Amino acid sequence: MNDIPPTQPPDDDTVTTGIRSLRELIEVATGKTFEDKRPKEDAGLAESLPFPFLALVGQYEMKLALMLTLINPAVGGVLLIGPRGSGKTTAVRGLVDLMPPIDRSACFYGCLPEDIEAGGIDAVCPECAKKYALGDPLTRSDRIKLIELPLNAMLEDVVGGIDDRPAVSEHLRLKRGILARSDLNVLFVDEVNLLNDEITDAILDASASGVYTVRRGPMSATYRSRFSLVGSMNPEEGDLRPQIMDRFGLRIVVEGLSDPDQRLEAYRRTRAYLNNPRRMITEFAEASRIALEEITTAKTLLPNVLISDEVAHWGIRLIKELKIDSMRSEITLFEAARAYAAADGRTEVATSDLQELAPMALRLRRSEFMPKFIDSHVVEDDNIRSHFNQP
Ligand SMILES: [Zn+2]
Repeated sequence: MNDIPPTQPPDDDTVTTGIRSLRELIEVATGKTFEDKRPKEDAGLAESLPFPFLALVGQYEMKLALMLTLINPAVGGVLLIGPRGSGKTTAVRGLVDLMPPIDRSACFYGCLPEDIEAGGIDAVCPECAKKYALGDPLTRSDRIKLIELPLNAMLEDVVGGIDDRPAVSEHLRLKRGILARSDLNVLFVDEVNLLNDEITDAILDASASGVYTVRRGPMSATYRSRFSLVGSMNPEEGDLRPQIMDRFGLRIVVEGLSDPDQRLEAYRRTRAYLNNPRRMITEFAEASRIALEEITTAKTLLPNVLISDEVAHWGIRLIKELKIDSMRSEITLFEAARAYAAADGRTEVATSDLQELAPMALRLRRSEFMPKFIDSHVVEDDNIRSHFNQP
């Protein structure tokens, strides 16, 4: 929980309206109504008081993308692209209210029952082996956390290093880095385009393989790093390397609100929050609780959500027609669609789900360079073959 810095006032006037839960957000398109009056519960907020996610005005795509990634981490993360003051950071920090529970290893070494199934009892630490033998669980239920990469983070903070606290014994301990602490959590990298290459590469490698190894002299340690990466960037402040851009599943272009009524509502909510954040949070506590419950339910349903060959072929045809090469396109599109169907209480993905999400999954993936490169490659191959039959 220490990973979330004290909340800053919203950096803009993009706060606001209307949407009070995940289902309601999804029902914006279908026009259904939804009501639920269940008792209030403690939202679990401690000293940090983020602006409530559901109090953000407008920004349908941004909210939907962030919620889908909570339901299904296989979506591959979210990149929020937009100018300063468009509410990107406020939205991400507000997600803490909506983080569903997951099963997490209860052990420092991260032992899991799957390890024993795959590698036998020696695959876990002695303590977990003992627990397993006694039939005690190796995991505990814990909510997903929001881990924020500090702007001034050094590579050692990110991957981990030597724990130099006064050692009880002569053995130095390897210290878990931000990537290891992000396992099964959401890692938020603000201004991802301004990060140095070394740190960016470390994050992307760990994110891609879900595991990484730190070596310091004779010591090494391998950590799990299965996290959802959420990045934000202001394109005015610099580009993102194409290979980094490719790693983000959903891409959201966050614009300022254009509707004057929404802007006014956003302004009012921002003022209300600045005057009394607790009151604002209390006002949205019930809606947040409902959204959390819906996300949790959708997450439970997700393993049963299927995508038929017919629907999948529709998606692949679209991606081919758009001349997008990256295989991550269909992974993101299909996984986001599965999460979307689950959120709607369905176990089958429809073509309309793909249509709803295609812009978010496929925009900014077309390369000007690749088709030209491939064409010239074909010309070269033809040229090589044209010499085969010459004497
Ligand atoms: Zn263990």
